[in-house]
Amino acid sequence: MKIQVPEAAGKIIEQLNIHGFEAYVVGGCVRDSLLLRTPEDWDITTSAKPEQVKEIFSRTVDTGIQHGTVTVLMDGGAYEVTTYRIDGEYEDGRHPKSVEFTGNLIEDLKRRDFTINAMAYSDRDGLVDAFDGRRDLDKKIIRCVGNAKDRFTEDALRILRAIRFSAQLGFDMEEETRKAIAVIAPNMEKVSRERIQVELTKLLLSDHPEQMAAVYENGIAPYISEHFLAAGERMGETGTIKLLPAEKHMRWSGFLRSEGPEEAVLILRDLKLDNETISQVKTLVTLWKQEMPADKPVIRKVMSGLSPKLFQDLLCFQKIFCPKSYQETLIKVEQYAEEIIENGDCIRLKDMAVTGRDLIGAGRKPGPGIGKVLETLFEEVLKNPECNNREYLMNLAERL
Ligand code: ATP
Ligand code: MG
Repeated sequence: MKIQVPEAAGKIIEQLNIHGFEAYVVGGCVRDSLLLRTPEDWDITTSAKPEQVKEIFSRTVDTGIQHGTVTVLMDGGAYEVTTYRIDGEYEDGRHPKSVEFTGNLIEDLKRRDFTINAMAYSDRDGLVDAFDGRRDLDKKIIRCVGNAKDRFTEDALRILRAIRFSAQLGFDMEEETRKAIAVIAPNMEKVSRERIQVELTKLLLSDHPEQMAAVYENGIAPYISEHFLAAGERMGETGTIKLLPAEKHMRWSGFLRSEGPEEAVLILRDLKLDNETISQVKTLVTLWKQEMPADKPVIRKVMSGLSPKLFQDLLCFQKIFCPKSYQETLIKVEQYAEEIIENGDCIRLKDMAVTGRDLIGAGRKPGPGIGKVLETLFEEVLKNPECNNREYLMNLAERL
């Protein structure tokens, strides 16, 4: 059994070996390689202490030195190299109170969350699989390393990770693991909302975003936030979310599509989503329910308020979630929108043939009044793009 380790990661392992240390790629990259999926990043685990890693490699960054992690820069890539460690008790359900370095790989694998994430590999030693991760990959199950209740008690985020991995990989939960989730769910309260959000976002972007339902079914939602819990009651059918492209704002909008815009914003703020995503979701959950007529002035108006991409996203959203009765109109709307772009119709205030400066040049007093006049001219242009010429608009402005 051979895993194709990237050349740079191979070099790092080789250098560590030359200096008398053990080193392996470990965790997600081994799991994904065995599943023939492309790993996101290649993590390395080693018997060398952080200081020793830093002595061996010329370019390193202290990314998490207190937890034993040094990032090694090699051939244009960045690789996290972490010293074998045994985690102490978890202080806040997230950070181990203490970490203890060890020279024993198996001890390091034992601290990892699931059997499928607890495998290491090197060309020299092949696969190190002390907890039957490979068997569980074949059986397509998520199983905790060791006692599930204990492992979830140490770090409740693992509960959500279990659901997220089952959504990403299409795996089932092993029985012990599933039972422990129900019991330990209240501990989720201790986990930071940023970390929760990262897992929920990964879940929504996975092949099985409908598994969001599992977060509610397993009784985890009450410990995430009040707003998030309430969303579960209004949540529409989750099976259709996967029809949306796997983009953060699209999948969150799909999940929150039955929410009002204010509620959606509250939920996402609780979860510390970035402002850009929050704003996009707010727009989509507001607009998707509003069916547009096949009427160019109205379409231009809608387009004028959105980036070209978000307008396309809105059409995509409406195709999936709006009733059949609207779909024929929607095809026309799409066609009209294409024509509007092809014709180069003015749909942005900044593309209008007249600017505020022109109005001031013609004798208008600077101030808020100018903005109002421009708005009125713009309304006119949206109705009829032929109006977008300087002479006509200046004339019109004089009469305003
Ligand atoms: P992804 O593809 O999402 O990056 P991953 O398995 O690489 O998945 P990471 O969060 O990058 O997940 O973590 C890397 C490895 O560290 C995991 O494979 C697992 O072995 C270990 N790990 C991460 N988080 C935890 C945790 N909360 N408890 C125990 N082990 C963990
Ligand atoms: Mg990873």
